[in-house]
Amino acid sequence: MKIICIGRNYADHAKELNNPVPEKPLVFMKPSTALLINNKPLYYPEFTKDLHYEVEVVLKICRNGKHVEEKFGHKYFTEITLGIDFTARDVQRQCKAKGHPWELAKAFDHSAALGALQPLENFDQNAIEFGLMKNGEVVQHGNTKDLIFPFEHLISYTSRFFKLHVGDFIYTGTPAGVGAVQIGDQLEGFFVDKNGERKVVLECEVK
Ligand code: MG
Repeated sequence: MKIICIGRNYADHAKELNNPVPEKPLVFMKPSTALLINNKPLYYPEFTKDLHYEVEVVLKICRNGKHVEEKFGHKYFTEITLGIDFTARDVQRQCKAKGHPWELAKAFDHSAALGALQPLENFDQNAIEFGLMKNGEVVQHGNTKDLIFPFEHLISYTSRFFKLHVGDFIYTGTPAGVGAVQIGDQLEGFFVDKNGERKVVLECEVK
């Protein structure tokens, strides 16, 4: 199982970190040891002083595929959820300054919180509204209609480089509003249904 992650896939988030809007998907990976499931807490890593949350819609890959054409991308996922791409922002800043890879900042143990899977048929995938609460306050709010690269494009593009396997996950990028967490913070990822009701699918306490 692998975790493919997309960076800067919402223009408002690229801008908030003073990054250019990409012309191709920005891709990185996390190992299977990064997964954090069943609403388990995240223990604040000792190597950072600036741990950030990034809530993202996550696709679960349901069939194997290589060089998937974009028009068939929709056949490769039937369940989605929310995830948190935990990022050691200070470490990432150092990596970026030196032109180094991001793994130490983004692929550490339990850096990929994953919520409860939801059937895709419950959503209009072109307009999935979602967000993140920190201690009960909404800190991030996004909609997949604002994706720079839509899901089918991500499936097609990433499968040119990495064969997709059943059970892989794709973290599709975070909207604006990323920020720091402290020990004791409670994070809750939610979808918003047609009636405007929030449905929490992911909980994570920072310990
Ligand atoms: Mg991210």
